[in-house]
Amino acid sequence: MSRTISAICSVALVFGGARFIHAQAPEAGKLSAAVREFVKYDDATIALTHVRVIDGTGSPARENQTVVIREGKIEAVGDTRSVAIPAGARVLDLNGHTVFPGIVGMHDHLFYPQPINMEGRRVRGVLQFEQQSSFTFPRLYLANGVTSIRTTASVEPYADLNLKAWIDEGKIPGPKIHATSPYMEGKGNFRLPVHELTGPEDARKTAEFWADQGFTSFKCFMHITRAELKEVIDVAHKRGLTVTGHLCSVTWREAAELGIDDVEHGFYVDSGWDPQKKPDVCPPRSPARNAVLDSLNPDSLQIQELFRVLIEHHVAVTSTLPVGEAYSSDHPPLQQGVLDALSPQAQAGYLVQRITQPPLVSMKHGIELEHAFLKAGGLLLAGPDPTGIGGVIAGYGDQRQLELMVEGGFTSVEAIHVATENGAVFLKENDRIGTIAVGKIADLVVVSGDPSTRIADVENVEIVFKDGIGYDPAKLIASVRGMVGLR
Ligand SMILES: [Zn+2]
Repeated sequence: MSRTISAICSVALVFGGARFIHAQAPEAGKLSAAVREFVKYDDATIALTHVRVIDGTGSPARENQTVVIREGKIEAVGDTRSVAIPAGARVLDLNGHTVFPGIVGMHDHLFYPQPINMEGRRVRGVLQFEQQSSFTFPRLYLANGVTSIRTTASVEPYADLNLKAWIDEGKIPGPKIHATSPYMEGKGNFRLPVHELTGPEDARKTAEFWADQGFTSFKCFMHITRAELKEVIDVAHKRGLTVTGHLCSVTWREAAELGIDDVEHGFYVDSGWDPQKKPDVCPPRSPARNAVLDSLNPDSLQIQELFRVLIEHHVAVTSTLPVGEAYSSDHPPLQQGVLDALSPQAQAGYLVQRITQPPLVSMKHGIELEHAFLKAGGLLLAGPDPTGIGGVIAGYGDQRQLELMVEGGFTSVEAIHVATENGAVFLKENDRIGTIAVGKIADLVVVSGDPSTRIADVENVEIVFKDGIGYDPAKLIASVRGMVGLR
């Protein structure tokens, strides 16, 4: 927190008399001591004044605004000269700061790739462990401005469901969780915590089981067959749940026609571009597939036709640029926050792989296609996918996703719109979260600087409001320092 904010707060406390009439936000009452430790502001009424607002709709940033938060909701937003500050409000003068909606992370797992693989080497091969990160990741998501996540696959299903419940109950700090099922994977599974489906009947039974346990979405994976996918979609849609997929054996077009709701990782993952593609078989990632896509510009008939199919079938696309960046010729910068959060072992594993990784392809064209999909009216979502070689972690990865979109040609407000309102739309939560508007829940991120002109300023998080409670990012980050990747 900056000196300016603290100074102004104390003034408000003295002159506003807030210390004596301190009324708490409704959510504050249920928070355990373990959560309260990280709370900076829990006043019932808070006014953010002289702040730049990026409202999440994609509209340009507005200068010199006041946002009034009351009882966990946004009560007013407008020009500082015209918005009245309610009596007894805690006033935070945020001159030089920007507020935008809490990030709705749509590929935000609660696990991390283990630095040592099953061959005991620090190089991840096919035999890879995944490790639940129940302690560190919820804190890092919240600290870095991510107030809602979809987990987009689970490796410890009951840990994810309990985390969701315990965060909702105020027992531990973290974002709002939309829990996705374990991987629904067909024959050819290569991951230890994953059940391999034996056919459509098993797919139906397994989907019913996880839905009964409380998952609200399904994640289908690389070797699922069309018949299995169809069963999962059928179970999900009968219950009002959604299905997403990191697909390979099923093409995006096939999946759209079967009724899938979302496809993960961007256009280069679609095996439909592979000249050797056979039905229900996941082909190895080939230079031929990349070459086909490399040669197609966004206006080409083939790309426009895929956009049309996806949009007509209401299929969203999730952009997960940070996980791809590690494998691309555009080398990722080292982020100090990430290095500080990793355990020494995880840090060493990441640094070794980072320099020994052969670069695959440039990401530039993939980002261009995602941008064109958005412009064509497609629902583009965003999330970091904290897997890969271990350099992408909760929260920091969500910020990096915003930076990469902007480097690839999105405007800053467009990128923020994708990462906030679009996620809320997909989750059918957009009447409550995703934009800064009167009546919405106060899930907000306050950063110093101006992300509308310098996107990297999204990293300067000073306060994160969830349900109108202001959390202290520095404290949350300090509480997990050196712990990501510890077993
Ligand atoms: Zn993933």
